[in-house]
Amino acid sequence: MVLRRRLSSRERKALYQDYLKTEHWRQRRELALERAGRRCRECGGDGSLEVHHLTYARLFQERDEDLLVLCRDCHGRRHGYRGEEDMLDFNTRNTGGRVAHLVDEAMLRAQEAADAERLAARMPRIGASRLGESCLRKLQYEFFKAPKDKPFTGKALRIFHRGHEGENWMAQWLRQAGFDLYTHNADGQQICFRALGGKILGYADGVLRAGPEECGPYPRLWENKVLGAKGWNKIERDGLKKAYPVYYGQVQLYMAYFELTGAPALFTALNADSMEICALDVPFDAPAAQELSDRAVNLVRACEAGQLLPRCAQDETWFECKFCDWHQRCWSSEKI
Ligand code: SF4
Repeated sequence: MVLRRRLSSRERKALYQDYLKTEHWRQRRELALERAGRRCRECGGDGSLEVHHLTYARLFQERDEDLLVLCRDCHGRRHGYRGEEDMLDFNTRNTGGRVAHLVDEAMLRAQEAADAERLAARMPRIGASRLGESCLRKLQYEFFKAPKDKPFTGKALRIFHRGHEGENWMAQWLRQAGFDLYTHNADGQQICFRALGGKILGYADGVLRAGPEECGPYPRLWENKVLGAKGWNKIERDGLKKAYPVYYGQVQLYMAYFELTGAPALFTALNADSMEICALDVPFDAPAAQELSDRAVNLVRACEAGQLLPRCAQDETWFECKFCDWHQRCWSSEKI
């Protein structure tokens, strides 16, 4: 049996200090400060604020209720003027939270490296899958690859992975069910279209070239998404156009650019909770495709002319702005 080596006080301090420098802690701390209205919860002061751990049981994966905003004096009194790291006991506590935190950090580092490589090699362009997005300013940030206010969290990255893997599973299942599904060209590249010299680009999940007769005619565009139960139920209830206009726009634009307008696209959604499949026929909607294509061209032209496009809202409390990755950038400056 291999016993875990006890960490020295110096090692504990170093580990804790490293953690305080991570993006994960920066975000947790910022949220705690926001919730507290940037005031000390004990004396109400607003100077030298710190975030105190009420428990270390979930260190690295703290819940809101584990954290308390205090000014330096009140924080010092809580600890009897000992540093927080002196209170930690990494030697006996459960290491689960630490493991999840290490996975998050490793994923973030890998993503950062991949992004840096991709961005260095890339000219400004817009993904056709995004053109149904309602805010033109947001699309402009995407076109120029403007840095987001905050990097993605490990959880968000795992949700993206789930989407990619879900697409592979669904492709495999469709093939097993008798469909001739084309997803990659002879060079192993995912099939895509480019317009305006590559400034508009779209990767399709696949094209059904043939399959069971009752599911034809062929060829048909295939697009897949992996959704949580809430989103999946919304599609089942309201249909694609109403439930997810951005996905609907993506399908229309792809049908037009891939010249697959002769048969309805097949849209599949995998319920990530129950693993149920929702499969919808999406007929070609020429006016919608034309509108999005015009939108794409106008967006690229405006970006190239240095024209700042309008925001989707008059004030930053609008619900779309609250969840926007460029919220801070957008409302603090009139520049891209
Ligand atoms: S913060 Fe709002 S207005 Fe600004 S880019 Fe985002 S969604 Fe658009």
